[in-house]
Amino acid sequence: MKRIGVLTSGGDAPGMNAAVRAVVRKAIYHDMEVFGVYQGYHGLINGHIEKLDRGSVGDIIHRGGTILRSARCLEFKTLEGQKKGIEQLEKFGIEGLVVIGGDGSYMGAKALTEHGFPCVGVPGTIDNDIPGTEFTIGFDTALNTVIDAIDKIRDTASSHERTFIVEVMGRHAGDLALWSGLAGGAETILIPEAPYDMTKIAEKLKRGQERGKKHSIIIVAEGVMTGAKFGAIIEELTNFDTRVSVLGHMQRGGSPTASDRVLASRLGAHAVELLMEHKGGRAVGIEQNQIVDYDIIEALAKPHKIDQRMYELSQELSI
Ligand code: ADP
Repeated sequence: MKRIGVLTSGGDAPGMNAAVRAVVRKAIYHDMEVFGVYQGYHGLINGHIEKLDRGSVGDIIHRGGTILRSARCLEFKTLEGQKKGIEQLEKFGIEGLVVIGGDGSYMGAKALTEHGFPCVGVPGTIDNDIPGTEFTIGFDTALNTVIDAIDKIRDTASSHERTFIVEVMGRHAGDLALWSGLAGGAETILIPEAPYDMTKIAEKLKRGQERGKKHSIIIVAEGVMTGAKFGAIIEELTNFDTRVSVLGHMQRGGSPTASDRVLASRLGAHAVELLMEHKGGRAVGIEQNQIVDYDIIEALAKPHKIDQRMYELSQELSI
């Protein structure tokens, strides 16, 4: 291939810029031309496409968000929208496309692939919910943001002897809650992938108080319920004074960690290697520190799984 495109789509994630940079630089290094598609599939349908040179991705490796911007585009879910997208790609002579985003964005890449246009998916989401990769770009940065918040909440929780409930993002996945709960030393972690019993959680809190425990931190994944709802139930069951912190969109921002920048660079470069070999319909990922690729259609059919042993460990350490 001599001309490829790159877009970022869906929820933004720190490290997307590092991935865009890797795609552009790797392609130029191998004498290919690269076009940036702005605002995800929305920009693709509307032909918001510009040639990128090596300088256009300078000074972005450390920046959160995405210079290509992102958008949700309902029209791209239709056959008509997808055809418009392919027409635009053909107009610019683009032969392959790198799609950086979450599972929704992968669905778009899958559709283009099924219409015969080669696409490669790069996992960019703080949710860590893409099958076929142990880590997604942005997860490590979001995790560190959540831990920083938990550490600060812990200071005030211990001063005021209160039960704090922290609601974290992750959509339907519990990875961010599980990892941050484990790293932040939370008493209880609620994730969508594991059953929970409110009465038992309340009893554990009461037992802790009887032992002289001054404060508690509970992590609730947004995929389970809102922190406010959880707090109300706990207050009713324990009569404890609870406070709820919803971390919200701050979890999506900030400068990417070294780990996310390196992951983004490796994955972005591998996506270009696949297109150089005319391999479309693939998604890239990392398994046991090795960069891998797999069939994007097959991967989307697999459910995302939580690390069960890690969940058990979190329970053993929060007695
Ligand atoms: P994420 O990629 O972060 O999961 P979304 O689920 O919002 O975010 O998906 C991003 C975009 O991908 C959507 O706005 C839409 O343009 C496209 N998309 C999602 N699902 C499909 C689908 N089934 N077919 C085609 N395109 C899709």
